[in-house]
Amino acid sequence: MAECCPCGSGKPYASCCEPIILGAVAPDAEAVMRSRYCAYVLGHWRYLRESWHPDTRPASVSPTNTAWIGLTIVRATTDSVEFIAGFREDGKIMALHEISRFARVDSHWRYRDGKCDIREAGRNSACPCGSGLKSKRCCARPQANNSRQGA
Ligand SMILES: [Zn+2]
Ligand SMILES: [Zn+2]
Repeated sequence: MAECCPCGSGKPYASCCEPIILGAVAPDAEAVMRSRYCAYVLGHWRYLRESWHPDTRPASVSPTNTAWIGLTIVRATTDSVEFIAGFREDGKIMALHEISRFARVDSHWRYRDGKCDIREAGRNSACPCGSGLKSKRCCARPQANNSRQGA
């Protein structure tokens, strides 16, 4: 069975974000954003740096061990993507809400910058893992905290 892509597209990783991480030209900014989310989940730090715009690219991308739980694309235009990425921190479900801007360099879309807001997900609001359930019925349940840790 093919592994589902961590970006939540429902497609197999091998025909979703993997080719982009391996250097294929992404069709649009959203595809790059999805592939960058996967790179954070899977630890492709070199790709994260490469997919940054040369004007804003950091000297290095430090590995993190953030426990990401899912991605929801709120809105995408040609060169911007608004998304919510969920993660776990100290037993809390956190939601990172960002509007990222991208620009094309040669034929590749590159991440230029973004405005982000990080806060704890409300127990009665949609779970940032993208399940469509309230977080108290999803990743914020105590047993979910134990079983899905360290993905
Ligand atoms: Zn994907
Ligand atoms: Zn959830």
